[in-house]
Amino acid sequence: MPDAAPLLREVFGFDAFRPGQEEIVGAVTAGENVLAIMPTGGGKSLCFQLPALMRGGVTVVISPLIALMRDQVRALQEAGVAAGALTSGNTAEETDAVWEALERGDLKLLYMAPERLAAGSALGMLRRIGVSLIAVDEAHCVSQWGHDFRPDYLRIGELRRDLGVPLAAFTATADAETQDEIVVKLFDGAEPRRFLRGFDRPNIHLAFAAKDSPRRQILDFAGARKGRSGIVYCGTRNKTEVLAQALREDGHSACHYHGGMEAEDRRVVEARFAREDGLIVVATVAFGMGIDKPDIRWVAHADLPKSIEAYYQEIGRAGRDGAPAETLTLFGPDDIRLRRSQIDEGLAPPDRRAADHARLNALLGLAEALDCRRKSLLGYFGEEAGNCGHCDLCDTPPETFDGTTPVRMALSAILRTGEWFGAGHLIDILTGTETDKIRARQHDRLPTFAVGRDRTRPQWQAIFRQMMGRDLVRPDPERHGALRMTEAAKPILRGEAGIELRRDTIRKATRRPAVKA
Ligand code: ADP
Repeated sequence: MPDAAPLLREVFGFDAFRPGQEEIVGAVTAGENVLAIMPTGGGKSLCFQLPALMRGGVTVVISPLIALMRDQVRALQEAGVAAGALTSGNTAEETDAVWEALERGDLKLLYMAPERLAAGSALGMLRRIGVSLIAVDEAHCVSQWGHDFRPDYLRIGELRRDLGVPLAAFTATADAETQDEIVVKLFDGAEPRRFLRGFDRPNIHLAFAAKDSPRRQILDFAGARKGRSGIVYCGTRNKTEVLAQALREDGHSACHYHGGMEAEDRRVVEARFAREDGLIVVATVAFGMGIDKPDIRWVAHADLPKSIEAYYQEIGRAGRDGAPAETLTLFGPDDIRLRRSQIDEGLAPPDRRAADHARLNALLGLAEALDCRRKSLLGYFGEEAGNCGHCDLCDTPPETFDGTTPVRMALSAILRTGEWFGAGHLIDILTGTETDKIRARQHDRLPTFAVGRDRTRPQWQAIFRQMMGRDLVRPDPERHGALRMTEAAKPILRGEAGIELRRDTIRKATRRPAVKA
């Protein structure tokens, strides 16, 4: 059977599973009957599309939403997956093409509207084409008491019985009665494997910190947890080796792990980690898929992960046993620049790149959140929550201040220099630092020159970082990382909107100068 991770990346363009997806994909692929309840937007379709690619034969997808089916089929086809739909919205040619592909036996996913099941010929056709899985989207439509009742959904149970294949049912409607009705109508009352765990992992403490002296920050965090198993994720292979060494020098038992190592060496680390108490593995994201250690007590990110999904998946490796676990994610302007340029320089088509930026923005929003992190995190995955009382921001609510004036100064410096410079030079302008470059470009004559001299350089760095985190400015890879304004900054510049900034990171910035790792 093919491995899920490369398909996830190559076909769907995702770098990590969303909460719950990995377990559901595993069960559906293994041929279990599944009932999965996930919030809208949680990523249900992947939970049958990916298994469809991993299993032989055709997966029949039943969905009542014709427009949605057509969108999904189009997206799958663009990703190179043989998918087709039989709906009333089809043109004759489309229907012919689907039939031909079925006859040739090279369709992987066949989307069908439930009405199709009523046609006498449907069952005969489905028997012939070698169906290996039935996926039912919007499974609550089978409930006679719900708003969305579709009488044709009642035929699905029959179809399952007749074809004798596993069935995976998905819905966002979670109440117990509807679930029970789904089990009776779709599974003849035989209990399917149910997935309805919320996304929340309340035993995991969440925390972010701006990088000021990253190596020291990681050593301090690990030092306070000596003897407990943990993972430190790094952005580069080289850094895993350097940090593992630093941890050993600090008296920890630590080793590095990355995709460039020999398979045998990686297996040794995996085995040690599973067996030993208190080992720290300093790794790239190559370390993860398939680690099944329930008592990982902490996860630290020495560099910002790629996306909010990757973040969730990586911290989610901690505390699987339900006992308390802690996390710390460091981030700085270099991370933001690196992640943005990785997206921009990648080979993905423009709409996928835009989606990747959005997923990174969601993570940066979380990093710069002003209140409960868990609330922001769960909100992103469609789950509503109150303040959790178990994250750094609930522990110590950050003080904020009205940052409108300095942000406007910074934006104005960016615009007056034609969006051609990075934060370093812009800060020279704002603080009135007369460098050669300033003089050569006559930037000391700009009206913004020295307008921000009442703030220190590290304070300005913190302001720029928060501006990047809120996606007010983005480094442009075609201009060597020069900062350019985004649409979101315009209302602030025009005086139509204000902005609150966090004071703590700025205060800290005055105490400790930035030190490179
Ligand atoms: P649902 O059917 O649960 O409402 P979808 O399957 O339409 O949700 O997925 C919602 C959005 O989430 C889609 O834009 C999809 O591309 C995105 N998505 C799904 N899985 C992932 C993932 N693992 N990583 C990033 N984005 C994902």
